[in-house]
Amino acid sequence: MIKVIQIATLSDNYSYIIIDAVSKLTACIDPSVSGTIVNFLEKNCLTLNYIINTHHHNDHVGGNLELKKKYNCKIIGNFKDQERIPEIDIKLKDNEIFKLGESEFKVIDTPGHTIGHVCYYFSEDKVLFSGDTLFSLGCGRLFEGSAIQMVESLKKLRLLPGETKIYCGHEYTQSNANFAIHLSPKNNKLKEKVIKIEKTRKKKLSTIPSLIEEEVLLNPFMNFDNVNYIKEIGLENVNDYENFKKIRVMKDEF
Ligand code: ZN
Ligand code: FE
Repeated sequence: MIKVIQIATLSDNYSYIIIDAVSKLTACIDPSVSGTIVNFLEKNCLTLNYIINTHHHNDHVGGNLELKKKYNCKIIGNFKDQERIPEIDIKLKDNEIFKLGESEFKVIDTPGHTIGHVCYYFSEDKVLFSGDTLFSLGCGRLFEGSAIQMVESLKKLRLLPGETKIYCGHEYTQSNANFAIHLSPKNNKLKEKVIKIEKTRKKKLSTIPSLIEEEVLLNPFMNFDNVNYIKEIGLENVNDYENFKKIRVMKDEF
């Protein structure tokens, strides 16, 4: 079992501190910066054993070097990104299991946003760290990968249990919600979610975690093969990849 603590950094990033309940081993997922993380660890009398990176972008690895220097922690990432993740020590592959004390997580290759992007899944806790692949009501932009890769990545995430909590890399939920409701203004479940999101953001609180089942139902980027949805948003149903591409372009231009 792990405890998850969300830490807001930069303008809209989330880093996460995770603590294995038994061993108390502590890791930081995607430290954007070092200062905010150090402050939290010191305030709570914690040390840092690992850094776990989802991908190489600076807003996810920016704290790597300073945190490693201070805590002598090991840095974990995708072996495919070993040239791009600063000071990586432990290079994991798709489907590989890593033990954090008594807890363990699995690596899920999710190329699309970047070629080397991975998500980390703690099956016992039903917790997914999705980085910039899956956001609440959105998905990452295709900076390096193709629509085909992103669709295949999202299909893998859709297979996780519905009650899986999704801890993503950014608080983009409000703007994603604006786009989703623009596409399907009559969806009552989505309307309810949008109202909840607005209330939460008005109080400057986090909308994260989301749940896989909510994303499967309401996230436009999880519905590339939902023929009714594709028709509802005014697109011609071609195939998963073409449908996805069109939704991605619509969002980029929204
Ligand atoms: Zn990124
Ligand atoms: Fe990012």
